[in-house]
Amino acid sequence: MQIKKQGDTFFIAGVIDENCTLTDLEPSGQSILKLNFKGVTKINSIGVREWMRIITLWKDKSIEYHECSTSIVDQLMIVRTLRGAQGKIATVESALLPIECSKCGYEGEVLASRNDYVVNQNLSQIDRKCKNCGHSCDFLHSDFAPLFSK
Ligand SMILES: [Zn+2]
Repeated sequence: MQIKKQGDTFFIAGVIDENCTLTDLEPSGQSILKLNFKGVTKINSIGVREWMRIITLWKDKSIEYHECSTSIVDQLMIVRTLRGAQGKIATVESALLPIECSKCGYEGEVLASRNDYVVNQNLSQIDRKCKNCGHSCDFLHSDFAPLFSK
């Protein structure tokens, strides 16, 4: 796993598991934690626990998640506490949502923003044409409310 800071955003890449600590993400005077998860390929339960530890440390500050990869989205859909501790809610600004083509079996992802969701609750305007056959793919999750809602 690598963490690179660009501007005020931490870009995380690779596998988050027992071989890594997220100490770089501990608060050190900033008022907001911005995480970009685009490069995260996998996260296991130990990685989730470490992520939760960081969220707890930021409990009275703001947290934003950007370009959440599908493995991060899966965790966010299941583990509600990853959105925040003690009533503090982290905002998912954008996420890569898993899609599947019912015609040819193609599996991929599309980038959706919080704005897409808020403006258009069912995300139906997002272009999700199959890269193989051109058919319109289905989202793998039917309800993204747990991801984007406050
Ligand atoms: Zn297809």
